[in-house]
Amino acid sequence: MTLEIEQFMCRDDNFGILARNKATGTVFLVDAPQEEPIMAAIERTGWQPSLILTTHHHPDHVEANLALKKRFGLVIIGPAAEKDRIPGIDRTVKDGQTLDLAGEPFNVIATPGHTAGHVSYYFPESGVAFTADTLFALGCGRLFEGTPADMLGSMRKLAALPLDTTVYCGHEYTLSNARFAVTIDPTNSALKQRAAKIERLREEGKPTLPTTIGEELATNPFMRWHDPAIRHNLGMEDASDEAVFAEIRKRKDIF
Ligand code: ZN
Ligand code: FE
Repeated sequence: MTLEIEQFMCRDDNFGILARNKATGTVFLVDAPQEEPIMAAIERTGWQPSLILTTHHHPDHVEANLALKKRFGLVIIGPAAEKDRIPGIDRTVKDGQTLDLAGEPFNVIATPGHTAGHVSYYFPESGVAFTADTLFALGCGRLFEGTPADMLGSMRKLAALPLDTTVYCGHEYTLSNARFAVTIDPTNSALKQRAAKIERLREEGKPTLPTTIGEELATNPFMRWHDPAIRHNLGMEDASDEAVFAEIRKRKDIF
């Protein structure tokens, strides 16, 4: 792990991420939700960013782009499919690319569903993934611009990362996700334990992130479409993966 990561709250429930490569001193942000808390993190750490990795175009992920660009002259990268909606973007990225702008190589993984162009960033040497509004702890993003099949495809890609990959997400939604997850997967004891731990952390005002791919595979219903107990609970033993995933997403929308 050569990345040092400062995670902090922005807006109501967004996470800001300021990361530094220990070997090269390169500093980057993942998204730019809000100028003030980002500036506070920069002052606290003394890490001056030269790069923003944008995951998608929503305002709560790009609001501070121009202000930070003005202050630091940083480079903003983001998905080609959303380039017209990402303020200050300098360079576009696409699925499958590996870039070496952050002091160590990282991969661009297209993870559509929440938005059509949403990307996640994976740093194999550090074993860290930034999944923003695609994969959340115990949840997944709402389908604003994609179909259940799109999001299922994105989840499959993330599920293929090493189990010990540390995952940073875009929002602190874990408590409501946990309360929903136990309705889908009521007999999962690992989930029950995790839900109890999350209740405690939130009572103490502590963040529930980061998580890991392994933990999500064991407890996140949006990564467990294949699970016999979930399928039985939904009465969908023989349904397609897509149908099961769509049903879970639909139930969460109205939870
Ligand atoms: Zn979003
Ligand atoms: Fe968001």
